[in-house]
Amino acid sequence: MTRRKRKKQTRAEALFRGSRIAKLLERRLIADASEIPAQAIPCDADSGTRWLYYINQPITCQDCGAFEIWKAEDQLWFFEVHKAPIYKWANRCLPCRHRERERKLEARRRAGHAPAV
Ligand SMILES: [Zn+2]
Repeated sequence: MTRRKRKKQTRAEALFRGSRIAKLLERRLIADASEIPAQAIPCDADSGTRWLYYINQPITCQDCGAFEIWKAEDQLWFFEVHKAPIYKWANRCLPCRHRERERKLEARRRAGHAPAV
């Protein structure tokens, strides 16, 4: 990545962060911008999330016991793009997540259900 491109991206990130913090302040969900750690991604106040920000979270896989970091960006996608319910939480590492998805697909196929979209 060129330096100019990187600079442009950093500015976009700052704007994104700033507008989200402004919304959290406006809704009085936070009293001060310092409540959002520098390494965290502020939540979208409109998304109905129960958190104020996403931050890298350590998880231990319930299937294989592997230690993994659930990245803040992935949490944002999970809750705001994928629209997962707020009580959901990552419990498996990536390989086990894929294995579990395959297992469910196979179970649906065997039961004669249409594949989930
Ligand atoms: Zn695992």
